[in-house]
Amino acid sequence: MGVSTLPPTANPRAVEYVESVLDKVRSKNPGEVEFLQAVQEVLETLTPALAAHPEYQKNKILERLVEPERVVMFRVPWVEDRGEVQVNRGFRIEMNSAIGPYKGGLRFHPSVNLSILKFLAFEQVLKNSLTTLPMGGGKGGSDFDPKGKSDAEVMRFCQSFMSELFRHIGAETDVPAGDIGVGGREIGFLFGQYKKLANRFHGVLTGKGMNWGGSLIRPEATGYGCVYFADEMLKTRKDSLAGKVCAVSGSGNVSQYTVEKLLDYGAKVVALSDSNGVIHDPEGINREKLIWVLDLKNGRRGRIKEYAEKFRTAKYIPADPKLDYNPLWTIKADCAFPCATQNEINAKDAATLVMNGCKLVSEGANMPSTLEATKLFLEAKVLYGPAKAANAGGVATSGLEMAQNSMHLNWTREEVDDRLHKIMIAIHNNAYETAERYGMPGNLVFGANIAGFLKVADAMLDQGVV
Ligand code: NDP
Repeated sequence: MGVSTLPPTANPRAVEYVESVLDKVRSKNPGEVEFLQAVQEVLETLTPALAAHPEYQKNKILERLVEPERVVMFRVPWVEDRGEVQVNRGFRIEMNSAIGPYKGGLRFHPSVNLSILKFLAFEQVLKNSLTTLPMGGGKGGSDFDPKGKSDAEVMRFCQSFMSELFRHIGAETDVPAGDIGVGGREIGFLFGQYKKLANRFHGVLTGKGMNWGGSLIRPEATGYGCVYFADEMLKTRKDSLAGKVCAVSGSGNVSQYTVEKLLDYGAKVVALSDSNGVIHDPEGINREKLIWVLDLKNGRRGRIKEYAEKFRTAKYIPADPKLDYNPLWTIKADCAFPCATQNEINAKDAATLVMNGCKLVSEGANMPSTLEATKLFLEAKVLYGPAKAANAGGVATSGLEMAQNSMHLNWTREEVDDRLHKIMIAIHNNAYETAERYGMPGNLVFGANIAGFLKVADAMLDQGVV
């Protein structure tokens, strides 16, 4: 928390307001490291907007923005195949509904706790605002680990989870989606149980199957969007992705479709990872190898290590928790696409990337860079696409799924992709122009935070003290 991203010319009254709110957030949420990190990163960039709009301070907009409208926490009991009872913890953070129903994914991962979900929900509010669609922000999940569980165990867990969650969600209240550990299989089980309990077939979840209300391109959207965003950033320097060497972290949903779209743009992807290790394939991951990875991860649910056993051009580097850096970011690349998890790029990783000539970072994962790493990228004038802008394509396409559900129609693949592409261009332009307008040209962290914030803050002002 030592690093500040405050602009050098920040207005003293706005700085004082931000610091007083940050002090309160720290004392009210002790130990919530990720939440405090996300709040600090955002609030410190809002000073130019707060200086221009004293009405936000008068109406305590920041104090309200950092306090979830509602937090639901519940017991999730379920039975393993061998008959043993397990108990997990379920959560839903309904953060802000100023511009639309709560919207945001569900994460199933053993690391899930209140701090991580509050950070994700907080980010989601501003991200959803940037998409141009009417969606508030929320996030939820469980410390359940789907890895190594049978389909029947995952189903029983999802049914138990939804047996409580169904009371709190609805097509016009709160619309969850997938995130880490929650893909098409889990959304199916969750939707089935919701429908049974609520006796309603409506768009209460996004990421649904294609023949029961899902949208084409939703699985691809976050990865595709992250690459469209990178392309827009490069265009500002009259450059393109063609021929660029790219490192992508993770090998899940976001990573897979980031690689696919990078191949469309003529880039060369040389790295992927999972929580056990990294593969480095200097020959490049071509379409044939990518199809193999999709089957490995989505079908056989295997480990990325097997890639290096199958393709001899690749080297496997096992993860080592004792290291103070991530070996993936030591691989020389023109562009980095962190698509695994939060804080996967620390200051040391960022310095190595910059030293090795990395020119662009487009964040597919949420908050993958620490505050120190972000600062280093900005200082080095790396084209840096912060998560809430660069990965907003997923939730934007969820918004398009909701629109199709409410109109009872399905758009074609081309139509959804075209809308997604236009939304990513609009998000980039909005962040770029807002950064310029508020005196921080080229700084998309400022631009995205301020642009996302203004819309939510103004809606909160309009709606009174609620
Ligand atoms: P998946 O579960 O499909 O994939 C996650 C990938 O990241 C896996 O390869 C996983 O490896 C790896 N990973 C997860 N946790 C860790 C960890 N602690 N250390 C190292 N590797 C890890 O999730 P998604 O692809 O959906 O999500 C990835 C990121 O993108 C998350 O930050 C998510 O919040 C963000 N995001 C996702 C969106 C979506 O539409 N799905 C939308 C916007 C953002 P392993 O299998 O070994 O766990």
